[in-house]
Amino acid sequence: MPQCERIVYISRAAFAANNPSSAVEPEIGRILMQSRRNNPSRGLVGVLYYGDGHFFQVLEGERAAIDALLGTLLQDTRHGDLTVLSRHAIGQPSFAGWSMKYVPASDDVKKLLASFGQSRFDPYQFDDAQIGAMIALLQQRSAASEPAAAEAPSEPRRSISDDHEQAGRRARYALWISVIALLLSMISMMMAILIYRRGILP
Ligand code: FAD
Repeated sequence: MPQCERIVYISRAAFAANNPSSAVEPEIGRILMQSRRNNPSRGLVGVLYYGDGHFFQVLEGERAAIDALLGTLLQDTRHGDLTVLSRHAIGQPSFAGWSMKYVPASDDVKKLLASFGQSRFDPYQFDDAQIGAMIALLQQRSAASEPAAAEAPSEPRRSISDDHEQAGRRARYALWISVIALLLSMISMMMAILIYRRGILP
């Protein structure tokens, strides 16, 4: 049976966070949808943390599947500076059942950062002990919840710009329909005048 590996990498988000509420960023929602759609058939499990413009992802699975996904991740323009922090063989996956657990910035991560003397999540500054502590926290968070219900892929929240785009499209359709209706009524008026002038109508 092929051996299972765990890879931990970090990267910088290339998009600006525009969601002041606690809801999931639309871009991250899309990433989670892709992960949860693709990972099960590739035998991959893992966890994704996003905070202060940085990603911290743990992926577990067979070497070939991890290599293939890494190749894809390196091409993804939604993040950059992808840096592998660790990669090694493991006995059992610790995120079994999680095609991609998502952990948003939360108080326990803030507490962990405070214990490192840091106030912002910048994993590029982490030493080995801090990386280990972050993985342990993500494992704890995953063990504390049920994968099935929490992971049901859902459509990412539509952004305000999506809403504006849709409203604009509706307004354009309405304008075209009014122009066509106006043209049709002008044509019927002209036909009525012509018919009247030629004495067809009384
Ligand atoms: P589709 O979803 O059909 O997308 C088609 C193409 O468009 C792909 O090349 C994709 O990269 C690109 N694309 C789609 N949306 C955008 C966008 N908004 N901006 C730029 N390019 C876009 N994928 C996984 O399968 N498993 C993971 O665990 C995983 N983790 C990720 C973690 C991070 C931090 C990021 C940034 C991405 C992650 N992805 C993951 C996404 C991965 O990089 C690929 O985009 C995805 O696997 C492609 O899925 P697909 O082949 O089904 O293509």
